[in-house]
Amino acid sequence: MLESEKEIKQHLKEIKRIASKIKDKQGDKTITLMEICGGHTNVIMKYGIRDLLPRNIRLISGPGCPVCVSSQKDIDCMIELAHQGVPVATYGDMLRVPGSKYSLDDARAKYGKVFEVYSTTEVLELKKKHPDIVFFGIGFETTAPMSAFLLKNKVAVYSVHKLVPPAVEILASDKDIKIDGFISPGHVSTIIGRKAYDNIRVPQAVSGFTPERILRGIRVLLELIRDKKMITVNAYPEAVKEEGNVVAQKLLQETFIITDSDWRGLGTLPKSGLEVRDDSLNAKKIYAKILSKVPEPKKTGCRCGEILKGTIGPQECPLYRKSCTPENPVGACMVSEEGSCAIAYRYGK
Ligand code: SF4
Repeated sequence: MLESEKEIKQHLKEIKRIASKIKDKQGDKTITLMEICGGHTNVIMKYGIRDLLPRNIRLISGPGCPVCVSSQKDIDCMIELAHQGVPVATYGDMLRVPGSKYSLDDARAKYGKVFEVYSTTEVLELKKKHPDIVFFGIGFETTAPMSAFLLKNKVAVYSVHKLVPPAVEILASDKDIKIDGFISPGHVSTIIGRKAYDNIRVPQAVSGFTPERILRGIRVLLELIRDKKMITVNAYPEAVKEEGNVVAQKLLQETFIITDSDWRGLGTLPKSGLEVRDDSLNAKKIYAKILSKVPEPKKTGCRCGEILKGTIGPQECPLYRKSCTPENPVGACMVSEEGSCAIAYRYGK
């Protein structure tokens, strides 16, 4: 038997034992755990982890898909920049997310000068030919250092970078969702460190991305819930350190300021985003006149917002698998590899 298989069996045995001991007045208490990160959702669905857990453990998916949480208005703003002839660059998945009328991919076909990139090196290459290129900086603390590096190299950035801890704090205090604990993202935590969650009084386990590491996180969370400990434990010590990556943190402090940010589904969350510190490199300031004319988006019937909060699953959206498919996505959650609707579509649940 492989070491990982042994570890999986041990964790499942222990999870079952602890779950049977967590009771409320009605008997076995239903314990709701949210995996914040779309990378975790992908592994959980791929390996059928939900079906392996005791019946009183409920896993729900959260807002940790970088493409999904970027607001439609910000996508419309980038499309408008492309429309006005400003060269723009961003990561692949973002190109396919529908804006109010069409996607950045469609904007590329219509207006040109919309570039798909996989690295900062490619952006710096593009800047030689297009000195006014704007990089659409999306994602969490994991991708923000790349945008910071571009800012250091005088590339203008339209930042919609988000911070994970403020979102966890809001979700933890949401009385309607009632989350007992969070499986916190391993990648983000390599940057911010375990310490970054210390002010959030809710059980959390920072977890890695293999099935055994996710189960390790769930086991740790159940121990915390059983013992009523509102703390964050690092269940991914192979990659995550107490202090995180201090070099990346310094780079972020030098190039960004913390600001309120507009999250798809969660609305504007205080101090949950990163804005470009230097106005001369902040695309929102440089092109303020153009961007001020972009209207507020209309509603589409897409229920990504509720999916990102964990209040419904993809199957509860009337458009799922009907008018919304990976080939013809209506919302962001059907586009990204880490989007809950695309994951459910891929693994048949
Ligand atoms: S199935 Fe499509 S329309 Fe429905 S919530 Fe998911 S992405 Fe939005």
